[in-house]
Amino acid sequence: MIFKKISSPNFDQKSSRKVKYIIVHYTGMKNQRVAIARLQSKVAKVSSHYLISKNGNIYQMVDDINVAWHAGKSKWGNDINLNSKSIGIELVNKGNEKYPNIQIKNLCLLIKYLKNKHKINKKHVLGHSHISPNRKIDPGPLFPWSYLNKKGLSKIY
Ligand SMILES: [Zn+2]
Repeated sequence: MIFKKISSPNFDQKSSRKVKYIIVHYTGMKNQRVAIARLQSKVAKVSSHYLISKNGNIYQMVDDINVAWHAGKSKWGNDINLNSKSIGIELVNKGNEKYPNIQIKNLCLLIKYLKNKHKINKKHVLGHSHISPNRKIDPGPLFPWSYLNKKGLSKIY
């Protein structure tokens, strides 16, 4: 897959790492421009490997091999602080908006591509709310987990 690139200074450079998880987020900002500015801010210190706009464009901000700063304090099973083992995908969404079909369709294409590339089990395709349940609710109640599950790209928890 070919991605449009947007740079972010917020990542840890690695020479190799094992990617075990894909973590889905929403941006929760008023629009895409503000969301990208935050993901590039040296003050905010947050980032994501990918961002998908409402019209389905997929942007890469951090290379898969490097550690983006999207998950924060987090836990799944015996794994803690999942940034080091995961790829983060941000969906542009204020938090209370229905996800456009094209955005979800292209998210599924990206997840399928990343699952194959990194041999990620579908049970490790999770939302931020799964791994930081006391702090985070994204990607929120409008996110179509059942659709991803039907496509074999995730589980229902
Ligand atoms: Zn999040």
